[in-house]
Amino acid sequence: MSFNIAIDGPAGAGKSTIAKRAAKELSFIYVDTGAMYRAITLGLMRAGTRIEDAQELARALEEIEVTIDYQDGVQQVYLNGENVSGQIRTEEVSARTSAAAAKPQVRAKLTDLQRELARRENVLMDGRDIGTAILPDAQLKIYLTASVQTRAERRYKELCERGEDCSLEEIAKEIEERDYRDMHREIAPLKQAEDAVLVDSSGMTVEEVTARIVNLARERMQM
Ligand code: C5P
Repeated sequence: MSFNIAIDGPAGAGKSTIAKRAAKELSFIYVDTGAMYRAITLGLMRAGTRIEDAQELARALEEIEVTIDYQDGVQQVYLNGENVSGQIRTEEVSARTSAAAAKPQVRAKLTDLQRELARRENVLMDGRDIGTAILPDAQLKIYLTASVQTRAERRYKELCERGEDCSLEEIAKEIEERDYRDMHREIAPLKQAEDAVLVDSSGMTVEEVTARIVNLARERMQM
């Protein structure tokens, strides 16, 4: 049977950085579910779909296929066969994704794909609803969070390094809005699973958080 680790938490808590490193140390496959939601959203944006119109959304989703594979151990995401891994990382896609991800039809499209991956392989899967909805039986669940200020500062640094225009205040506002939408939607809202270990990464280094998760996983694997 495969061993599954679920990491959930709000935007900018460092999930993907930590999850990638921990997966490498454990020789697990890292599955970034946010990238899948982002790819669907990019498809909807390109088609000019009005997601508020349920029929229009259903029709558009029929034309969208999201798949993933790995190149040198790094997850790539494809929208109808086109590698869109770079294009899904803009602020516009981030904001629109949390609106699209609140739609049940959008979530339904990814549930089976995510569960199937976890059934076949030892995965470390990150997202918002992995421990609560997708993999309720995961052997280890982590809820990774950090203060809004810490998360906004990290994001600000990242964008500045990429040479993108940014304001710390705007980023903090965007993060708060996204958290609110993700936590208050009707379907699969972001929340800590009852059996998840809470890790607050404010004031912790990437190495410290990774080590904590790797140690927890090793303990559970011996049980
Ligand atoms: O993790 P990332 O920031 O890439 O996720 C983008 C958006 O996708 C989130 O704000 C959330 O709305 C949505 N998402 C989700 N469920 C997941 C992963 C991501 O609803 N499992």
